[in-house]
Amino acid sequence: MFQKLMNDKDFLAFTIDNINNKVVSHSFVLSNQTTVNILDNGVISFNPAKGSTKDIVLSCAIHGNETAPIEICNELINQLLSETIVAKQRVLFLIGNPESILTQTRFVEENMNRLFSGAHSAGEGLCNKERVRAKQLEQYVADFFLDNEHSQRIHYDLHTAIKPSKHEKFAIYPYRPGRSFSADQIMFLAGCDVDTILFHHEPTTTFSYYSSEQFKADAFTVELGKVMPFGENDMAKFANTKTMLLQLITEQNVNVAPLDKDKLHLYKVSRSINKHFDDFKFTFDKSTVNFSGFDQGHVLATEGGTSICVSHPYEAIVFPNENVPVGQRTVLCLVPAPNEYIQ
Ligand SMILES: [Zn+2]
Repeated sequence: MFQKLMNDKDFLAFTIDNINNKVVSHSFVLSNQTTVNILDNGVISFNPAKGSTKDIVLSCAIHGNETAPIEICNELINQLLSETIVAKQRVLFLIGNPESILTQTRFVEENMNRLFSGAHSAGEGLCNKERVRAKQLEQYVADFFLDNEHSQRIHYDLHTAIKPSKHEKFAIYPYRPGRSFSADQIMFLAGCDVDTILFHHEPTTTFSYYSSEQFKADAFTVELGKVMPFGENDMAKFANTKTMLLQLITEQNVNVAPLDKDKLHLYKVSRSINKHFDDFKFTFDKSTVNFSGFDQGHVLATEGGTSICVSHPYEAIVFPNENVPVGQRTVLCLVPAPNEYIQ
């Protein structure tokens, strides 16, 4: 089963080839003394023999058609397996939803990034493959982090967005009550060209919130640009992201610039607008880009005979989607984050 992977070092191809096979866990040691564990289909970790100070989780393809992050992770895995780079830190790569890579869709039955922190087992329970996989991914992250009590825990869940965005690359910093937001992490992301941070305001069922909340990891949902099919990504646009991730894995310390708020766009979530009626409809055009702003009083949407208006002097919108089931989120509204947010 592993021979082809050993030859061509293409973990994505291995993952796609084995969608319908049971991948038994398999370990081996590279000549540079890194232990490699293939734990499941799409799940691989690299563990240096000694001296690591960080436990890093890099996940991609939680939405299967978001190809750029898959290419970035696969390239890093390829370089690690080929020993053209050497891991100084422990790193776990997760290719989230291989079946939806094959179908070139966001998901097969259910949006996986709403299924973490136990949501996979709520309601109708483990009734589809995405729910089963989300539960397994949680366990791999738990096993990886809990194997090592003393390291800094980091999880970047890498995505690309469906809609074009006023800020091409941005990250969501999960709600973390009682913990300050890390300037170091924000400047690391800025080094990846992710210059826009959205501070979330409440618990969610996303993968990054799970790692943040359960393991006190520095965890982010990172949006790296617009969804494109394989082969159509302009990889030059991801060069800085890749360089920073490579440094993170292969260096003891990463040099990040000092905090410079003038170079950043910092937003906090003012509210999440949920759908209450089937006739929910946005007033703005479908081509409206993420982070578009509206002034107070502007009608954002209508439903059930009422209007939903901008309630702050200025609110920007992100992730609008009116085609969700009643009860789910249609859009997040944002306001500028106060300066004291970051420490
Ligand atoms: Zn996504």
